[in-house]
Amino acid sequence: MLAAMQFCSSCGKTLSLRIPEGDNTMRHVCDSCGAIHYQNPKIVVGCLPVYEGKILLCKRAIDPAYGKWTLPAGFMENGESLEAGAARETREEAEAEVRILRLHSVFSIPHIHQVHFFFLAEILDGRFGAGKETLEAKLVTAEEIPWDEIAFGSVRFALKRYLDAPHQMETHVDSYLKPQ
Ligand SMILES: [Zn+2]
Repeated sequence: MLAAMQFCSSCGKTLSLRIPEGDNTMRHVCDSCGAIHYQNPKIVVGCLPVYEGKILLCKRAIDPAYGKWTLPAGFMENGESLEAGAARETREEAEAEVRILRLHSVFSIPHIHQVHFFFLAEILDGRFGAGKETLEAKLVTAEEIPWDEIAFGSVRFALKRYLDAPHQMETHVDSYLKPQ
C-alpha cells in the first residue's frame, strides 16, 4: 500500500521500510535522522455546478481520461478549506465563480489512496468557459449527460446521486477495483 520511496526528504540518506516502535503499519523510516515518512490519502475537491436547472460539465484536455467529461475537481492545496479548494478548481477548470450550497457527495477510493468531496454549487451570473485543463465546458440537462463518456467513477456517482436525490448527501466507498 506504500508508494516507493528511496531517500529521506529531510536528510537525503537511504530509507528503510519497517514498523516503527509503537506503530502497527509499515513506514519508510530514516535510520540516519529518525524521520518517519507517513503516507496518507490525498483529498480531491470539486463542485457539481448548477445553473437554471442544468449541470456544468468539463471535457478534459489532460490525461488521464483525455476527452472525457468530468466535474471540475482536483487536489486540495495546503492552507485552503474543502470549499475554497472546490471553488478554486471550478474557477481554474471551468472559469466559473460559484456559491457553494452544501456538501453533496463523498467518495472513498482506498486502492488509489484518495478521498473525493463534491459540493453542490450555484454558478454566479451564469458565466463559464474552458480553463487550461478543459477542452470545452457546457451546461447539460439530466437527459443530455453523456454517461458513456464520463471520466471517473466518483463523477458518475455524484451525478447519479444528484439526479436521484438532489437534496441528500451521499457517501460511497469504491469497491469495484480492489488492490491485488
Ligand atoms: Zn533522514
